[in-house]
Amino acid sequence: MDLKEYVTIVPDYPKKGISFKDISTIMDNGQAYKFATDEIVKFAKEVNTDIIVGPEARGFIIGCPVAYALEVGFAPVRKPGKLPRETIEVEYDLEYGKDTLTIHKDAIKPGQRVLIVDDLLATGGTVGATVELVEKLGGVVAGCAFIIELSYLSGREKLQGYDMRSLITY
Ligand code: IMP
Repeated sequence: MDLKEYVTIVPDYPKKGISFKDISTIMDNGQAYKFATDEIVKFAKEVNTDIIVGPEARGFIIGCPVAYALEVGFAPVRKPGKLPRETIEVEYDLEYGKDTLTIHKDAIKPGQRVLIVDDLLATGGTVGATVELVEKLGGVVAGCAFIIELSYLSGREKLQGYDMRSLITY
């Protein structure tokens, strides 16, 4: 299946000049959603995954069916104030300003092999912060998987030394 055919390009969203890659047209097609999930499941098996971690919100949409298929757990990474118990946090740079991501302190057991999953790799800020959260908790990043990689934004450079897989590249 050519998954790229199911991505919708939305010009000038969320701002003028940005070409937004909309994966909702992968998700609303049962076969395309299953194909994308199965491809990430294959990678997760190759890297021996104990648990999936995904940043809100589209990381949940991709990561949860992968976790279900593998019969492993899923731990959410969220913006501050969204997780109810004790968390750790990591601040990271955005194009303009900074943002923070959090994870429950007990979400990962030391030594667990973690697959980080998100819909899209752009500058790598989100996944970089997620890697830091996992490693702060003693987890081992087994790999990072994305439906889409925007290679012109060089996010891959932030993941040097980590195993990574993207299903579609622009
Ligand atoms: P990064 O932190 O710059 O790598 O941006 C990746 C994050 O921004 C991911 O969590 C994506 O969900 C979101 N994102 C950035 N650009 C797009 C896009 O074109 N389509 C969908 N999500 C995007």
